[in-house]
Amino acid sequence: MVQKTEKIWFDGQFVPWEEANVHVLNHTLHYGSGVFEGIRCYQCSDGSSAVFRLEEHVSRFFDSAHIAMITLPFTRQEIFEAILNTLRLNHLKAGYIRPLAYLGEGAMGLLPADNPVHVIIAVWPWGAYLGEEALQKGVAVKTSSFTRHQVNSMMTKAKISGNYVNSTLAKREAWADGYDEALMLDSEGYVAEASGENIFCIKNSVLKTPPLGSVLPGITRDCLITLARDMEYRVLEQRFTRDELYVADEAFFCGTAAELTPIRAIDRRAIGAGEAGPVTKLLQQEFFSVVHGDNLKYAGWLTEV
Ligand SMILES: *Cc1c(COP(=O)(O)O)cnc(C)c1O
Repeated sequence: MVQKTEKIWFDGQFVPWEEANVHVLNHTLHYGSGVFEGIRCYQCSDGSSAVFRLEEHVSRFFDSAHIAMITLPFTRQEIFEAILNTLRLNHLKAGYIRPLAYLGEGAMGLLPADNPVHVIIAVWPWGAYLGEEALQKGVAVKTSSFTRHQVNSMMTKAKISGNYVNSTLAKREAWADGYDEALMLDSEGYVAEASGENIFCIKNSVLKTPPLGSVLPGITRDCLITLARDMEYRVLEQRFTRDELYVADEAFFCGTAAELTPIRAIDRRAIGAGEAGPVTKLLQQEFFSVVHGDNLKYAGWLTEV
């Protein structure tokens, strides 16, 4: 269950959590015609609090809206400030931030004629998405029977609400079958990503992640490419197959929610030693030190609240 906070930013005003409601004839509720972001705020070692890569997340929020032909009635600067103000007002030192733009009531057909565009920003405390234990020991994954969106049937570069029915189907199937997460292949059968995370595999100290074809351009993916290269690892954005993953030395998922979660098995085959691998652990350590403000080299990725 989501842990409530006090106020939600709603079209420029702060309203109590319980009063941030929509009508049942909301267009987005019926057709998935909204866009959203997922952002994290971390408490730093010096006690301050910082949002990780806020600018890039706000930018992607506007890009998603542009792709979905939704004109946001706020500027980037207004959303940027509103996110920080929502954290401050709720006294949230660390947690998750969810901006969402949706189409309200009006036309009920598929063409949202003049339906008003609403924007909300909610924040709440959120620990490890796949569990604390998953961060240490890794997750067990199953290749999904659901294919990741083909690039011309859904817009895969955007966090469009409706896109996530595909992810929800995959996630529920994986859970029902006793796995932690689903691995989704693209329409040609190559590894794409998980239901809401990007994937990397490691063989002989070389990292590989699928190129930005059908996968969501994850900001965490981008961070890890940079961190790994700065740590002198070779990183390739290259397609690979599921059997290449079966024989990888290590593999991990990454995303704002999942952070950096090691993969211990895929389709009942242990990956490497069947636990978090050494390169994965090093990268995870580096990632957590960066988000907690302990690495000045990447201080530019943090926005103090
Ligand atoms: C949000 C998301 C990710 C991760 O993106 P981040 O910017 O790292 O949070 C990966 N895959 C999908 C499908 C997503 O929706």
